[in-house]
Amino acid sequence: QSTTKPPPAPSPLRNSKFYQSNMRILVTGGAGFIGSHLVDRLMGNGKNEVIVVDNYFTGSKDNLRKWIGHPRFEIIRHDVTEPLLVEVDQIYHLACPASPIFYKHNPVKTIKTNVMGTLNMLGLAKRVGARILLTSTSEVYGDPLVHPQPESYWGNVNPIGVRSCYDEGKRVAETLMFDYHRQHGIEIRVARIFNTYGPRMNIDDGRVVSNFIAQALRDEPLTVQAPGTQTRSFCYVSDMVDGLVKLMEGEHTGPINLGNPGEFTMLELAETVRKLINPNVKISMVENTPDDPRQRKPDITKAKELLGWEPKIKLREGLPLMEEDFRLRLGVPKKE
Ligand code: NAD
Ligand code: UDP
Ligand code: UDP
Repeated sequence: QSTTKPPPAPSPLRNSKFYQSNMRILVTGGAGFIGSHLVDRLMGNGKNEVIVVDNYFTGSKDNLRKWIGHPRFEIIRHDVTEPLLVEVDQIYHLACPASPIFYKHNPVKTIKTNVMGTLNMLGLAKRVGARILLTSTSEVYGDPLVHPQPESYWGNVNPIGVRSCYDEGKRVAETLMFDYHRQHGIEIRVARIFNTYGPRMNIDDGRVVSNFIAQALRDEPLTVQAPGTQTRSFCYVSDMVDGLVKLMEGEHTGPINLGNPGEFTMLELAETVRKLINPNVKISMVENTPDDPRQRKPDITKAKELLGWEPKIKLREGLPLMEEDFRLRLGVPKKE
């Protein structure tokens, strides 16, 4: 019997001919709402290997259950504020709580996640030569004095308010991205995401679309926070995922706004949800939280011109898709 070891199996190196179209992609925050839809898209091409890193603060393994055990998929319980050693070609860096009630819950941790988390992912990108995309936010525009908001607008952010851990955290994260790009030549992509909604949002995470749909299904009044005339623009999650992938694969660093320019007041949104889901439900005006931006709507000229991207799904089409998911999870079947 020979004792010679068999030759090592070919490793999926990115330069190997066999694996040419194969990418190993890290998604931080991949167990969350947008992250898990992004994983579905990346896995769906049948070639990518996807590694998810998540500390499960607001995300859940349940969002990824169809991929657990798949040979091209791996999930690591890890907090991005700690260093991470993996070998990857691309990094989608999403890890960060996105809903105000969660990011305000432990504001110091939110800042650490944005600053130390992004620094670690940039250190990783530098070591392995990976391209890295940051999911920044329309919150970098604060309570905007320019409407709609183009990327060239520097924003109107309160540096010491209760939302600052998130807003200023993301602003520093953007700065880090551009400094690593200028100083170390890292390939970066920065998306500024506007309010996004769809299936798998946390039912009780306090964001407006998930609140209204859950309230309508539970026969509870829709809580419009005063004055109700504040506006937001809502993008369906599959459109968002298209935009993120186009940005990653394209040639432009950004920052690029990704969002749906359809703008609604919160009262209009409540009316729309009521009509669609439960015409008997009441709308009640409740107190607002400090520093709530009064208006928000993306200028998506850059995304259209540079990425050839614009959202396809209107609010009226997206809400019923989310309703279906919430009905299943809340156990409220549709009346025939
Ligand atoms: P989400 O809360 O569903 O997902 C965030 C994920 O990050 C969760 O799975 C959470 O467990 C994980 N996470 C948080 N802190 C972590 C840490 N320290 N280490 C490892 N994992 C951590 O939120 P989402 O809506 O999917 O948002 C994803 C990204 O998009 C975030 O960066 C958010 O700032 C950005 N964004 C989202 C919106 C939106 O409307 N949903 C708008 C603007 C920007
Ligand atoms: N880092 C990481 N994974 C790596 C390489 C670096 O998490 O593969 C972290 C590292 O621990 C450091 C951060 O990224 O805290 C920034 O790394 P960089 O090399 O840019 O800076 P330095 O280590 O010199 O401070
Ligand atoms: N809002 C509301 N009712 C709710 C939750 C939120 O009227 O039950 C309002 C909130 O005041 C804000 C808007 O909806 O003006 C969007 O809030 P959300 O927390 O969803 O996201 P934000 O854009 O503020 O991060």
